[in-house]
Amino acid sequence: MTQMNITGRATRVAIISNNKYQSKRVASKLFATFKEDKDFYLSKKNPDIVISIGGDGMLLSAFHMYEKELDRVRFVGVHTGHLGFYTDYRDFEVDKLIENLRADKGEMISYPTLKVHITLEDGRIFTARAFNEATIKRIEKTMVADVIINKVKFERFRGDGLSVSTPTGSTAYNKSLGGAILHPTMEALQLTEISSINNRVYRTVGSSMIIPKKDHIEIVPKRQGVYTVSIDNKTMHYKNVVKVEYWIGSKTINFVATPFHTSFWERVKDAFIGDLDS
Ligand code: NAD
Repeated sequence: MTQMNITGRATRVAIISNNKYQSKRVASKLFATFKEDKDFYLSKKNPDIVISIGGDGMLLSAFHMYEKELDRVRFVGVHTGHLGFYTDYRDFEVDKLIENLRADKGEMISYPTLKVHITLEDGRIFTARAFNEATIKRIEKTMVADVIINKVKFERFRGDGLSVSTPTGSTAYNKSLGGAILHPTMEALQLTEISSINNRVYRTVGSSMIIPKKDHIEIVPKRQGVYTVSIDNKTMHYKNVVKVEYWIGSKTINFVATPFHTSFWERVKDAFIGDLDS
């Protein structure tokens, strides 16, 4: 756990909510409380703390809203739906959240993010940052692409596509694809196949691979056409992709380290296993 420098001024808080009735109720309560408190200043501009209200999807949106300010922002999530993996508080725990934010000393828990560069045939380069994962797929035909890890031409992939996830994203799409769960403090990426073709003629490694921070992944499509690239909850379509590169970014996502930011293994158990005694 590290600490963000907190000066004597009021803490700038941005409240981001989805449109659900329950989320709006939580947002109104937080607005009303912080408006009256001289230690807090409500502002969507240059916040110190971003409170996202909704679920993991809302937290992803909040991350992308403030992805250029990751150095100075800490996030905390309130979930109003059934399952929230990185949303620490339930809607009925808002009083606890307020109490914990009043006692906050700037402590944070940081997790790595993924940096992505997409190079097109015409020389354009698009850059993006992911909290969970980036995927590349070729929808209308088999995707054929070379996978290069640290300049080693590792395999020629054939199938639907490939996913590169952060440790945080290892419990999201990556898990559905059969990838491993990584503790989010581990500085590593995970490369996971999406329906690879494996037979006597075509071969891929088949299992997901954990790639350390120092290594760089490159995916080089071998066929012309339209590729679908997703970055968390956003999807883009690019024509004639030359290569997509992935590595662990220099910026982390920082969460407010409140007592409600529970153990990762507790979260995994809660989300995927449930109560052992039931
Ligand atoms: P969403 O918000 O409905 O999220 C889909 C599900 O993923 C939800 O149940 C959410 O709680 C869960 N989730 C999101 N991030 C998680 C994480 N880090 N750990 C554990 N669970 C997590 O849908 P969206 O707004 O489109 O969100 C995009 C995310 O959905 C993507 O980043 C991707 O990881 C995930 N996704 C999953 C699948 C799949 O499992 N087959 C397919 C597409 C996208």
